[in-house]
Amino acid sequence: MAILQGKGVSGGIAVGRLEFFVRSYFAAERETIKDADAELIRFETARKTAEEQLDQLSAMTVGRLGKENAELFNVHKMMLKDEDFLDSVTGIISEEKLCAEYAVVETGKRFSNDFAEMDDDYMKERAADVLDVAGRVLSILNGGQQNVSQNREPVILASDDFSPSETAQFDRSTVLGLATRQGSGNSHTAIFARTMGIPAVIGLGASLAPDLAHTPAALDGDTGQLYTDPKPAVLSELKKKQAKLQVEIQSLERFRGKPTETKSGRAVRLFANIGSVADADAAVLGDAEGIGLFRSEFLYLERGDYPDEQIQYEAYRRTLEKMKGKQVIIRTLDIGADKQAAYFKLPAEENPALGFRAIRICLARPEVFKTQLRAIYRASLYGNAAIMFPLINSVHDIRRAKKIVEEVRRDLDAEQTAFDRSVPIGIMIETPAAAIISDLLAREVDFFSIGTNDLTQYTLAVDRQNESIQGYCDIHHEAILRLIRMTVENARKAGIPAGICGSLAADPALTQTFVEMGVDELSVVPSAVLRIRRTIAEME
Ligand code: PEP
Ligand code: MG
Repeated sequence: MAILQGKGVSGGIAVGRLEFFVRSYFAAERETIKDADAELIRFETARKTAEEQLDQLSAMTVGRLGKENAELFNVHKMMLKDEDFLDSVTGIISEEKLCAEYAVVETGKRFSNDFAEMDDDYMKERAADVLDVAGRVLSILNGGQQNVSQNREPVILASDDFSPSETAQFDRSTVLGLATRQGSGNSHTAIFARTMGIPAVIGLGASLAPDLAHTPAALDGDTGQLYTDPKPAVLSELKKKQAKLQVEIQSLERFRGKPTETKSGRAVRLFANIGSVADADAAVLGDAEGIGLFRSEFLYLERGDYPDEQIQYEAYRRTLEKMKGKQVIIRTLDIGADKQAAYFKLPAEENPALGFRAIRICLARPEVFKTQLRAIYRASLYGNAAIMFPLINSVHDIRRAKKIVEEVRRDLDAEQTAFDRSVPIGIMIETPAAAIISDLLAREVDFFSIGTNDLTQYTLAVDRQNESIQGYCDIHHEAILRLIRMTVENARKAGIPAGICGSLAADPALTQTFVEMGVDELSVVPSAVLRIRRTIAEME
């Protein structure tokens, strides 16, 4: 047994096999070939190998998880034999004289888009399966291995770090825990893990060596320890701890359905943060009173091209429907910095966190912004939606964004498309500049939500992605608390509500301070809702 020490960023215990995340980028060069027949043989060999892999996976899964869970691999095998799929790949190879990798990627993307556009939910879900199958063939052609996260077998997933777009694409049911060599507590990997309730340990360094792949392991997301080949005695201790955590979670059940208020009756709205439609289920399960932050950029990060208006409309509509009239604050696209999607073709920058990101991209690319706003407004009829702009720094930013909103509303009116005319418009307060002029910003909008993750990095000049300076990241620094207080007071003077949706909102050490400051809303990871409600209920 070995014990590796890192930093726990998402609590809980995970027990399972340790596997390394193998990046299989779904892309290929458009290479011309001379010998199409040889290329067709290469493709056919890879296709057969993929079939064999699927047979093995299927047999393994039947043994471990039952026949029903293995059915998926049969669906994948059928896709590998689909005539249209094969005609497309072989056509690109023999007629266009292009390499097998390119033919597989192009065909995979084309078929996946076709599925994604279908009305039927079942067929829509097949879009990911086509990419999965095509990705398998591609990695065989590349001489590599299939990405383990696509193996559908639950594992503790290890890597240097995970990018937000990788986490967006995880098959969440197969990730028991996350272990990384690098990373910081405020990174989106950590946020993703907490949102999903997946135990996670980061910063394990080089001790998380590649030869640990396939070993039995256990991970404690509270102490930051990763055990490889854990001794039976350790395993039983961890299992005891897991059971104790379960008891604690059970004891929080008495706060389910209760109002969030102090003993003296001071009420706070207790919302949840989500990054996908599926997360809305976690929010409902966690008993959130609304969604304080829908990180809409994950809709963009989980695919290889812009999600069109219809895809977005459906995601927002389904989320609003799931929340049954409770407020859903949809943050408009916050891409850039660590959240990169290749198809945006964002310029390489010296300091991406201080660069072209969030609202700055939307203002520079109004067609992207308008597509999203149209989707939100169209979906607004199905619930209680609110729109929130990220990284606002000036009155000018707000006015420019609102002008585009006005254009979208005019267009919808002109087309006689119905929408909720009273959707509130708010902003995130994420920079010291925004907090300092929050009195001026408050006159322009319906609400504030304080993003303490970015506010901390910009106030303390500590890059939230850079693990080597995390020692300087004092999340309880007085400067941050003063900026929060200033923002909340200015909101109150202007008669608008102010919430907190950064990770600090779930920090029980600050709950009392925030409530006493007069914060109207706290938006936390779904699994923290009941715990924070208990903390508030215990306050005078
Ligand atoms: C924040 O900055 O606090 C925030 C909530 O936004 P994100 O973490 O997505 O940058
Ligand atoms: Mg932010």
